[in-house]
Amino acid sequence: MKKILVSGCLYGWSCRYDDGNVTCEDPRFLRWKAEGRLVPVCPEVFGGLPTPRPDSQRIGGKVIACTGEDVTDQYEAGAQEALRLAKENDVAFAIMKEDSPSCGSEFIYDGTFTDTKIKGQGRASQLLLESGFKVFNENRIDEAEKLLRNA
Ligand code: SF4
Repeated sequence: MKKILVSGCLYGWSCRYDDGNVTCEDPRFLRWKAEGRLVPVCPEVFGGLPTPRPDSQRIGGKVIACTGEDVTDQYEAGAQEALRLAKENDVAFAIMKEDSPSCGSEFIYDGTFTDTKIKGQGRASQLLLESGFKVFNENRIDEAEKLLRNA
């Protein structure tokens, strides 16, 4: 059975920076979860950050918290852990939460903390893509399902 790497918050973990979650309720996602196909990862928590934690954004090659703290190393560690899990489970692809500085695959916030999005990738999704894994977000389950059918 082909596995799928997924963001922990979509899976139902309360691991977001604000201690909330954004559980994906798409019936296909829920079916995959019931089948035991999903491999959840929260790159930020797996990289050593607590929940809740300060909002952070990518700025150039770094990730900086709204407090000014440089959290690049933790984001990098979390991205490496996501890649390790993807490889270990030989996942077909990943479904990662959009807009996150770790998990975004199409958009992220622009580093100004003014609620402005730009095209870009979070560090974990960037590393997965660079390593050859396809990354979808929660709005692209249709495409993911099609790919899984052909996997
Ligand atoms: Fe969700 Fe990813 Fe943020 Fe963790 S790092 S809370 S999995 S978006």
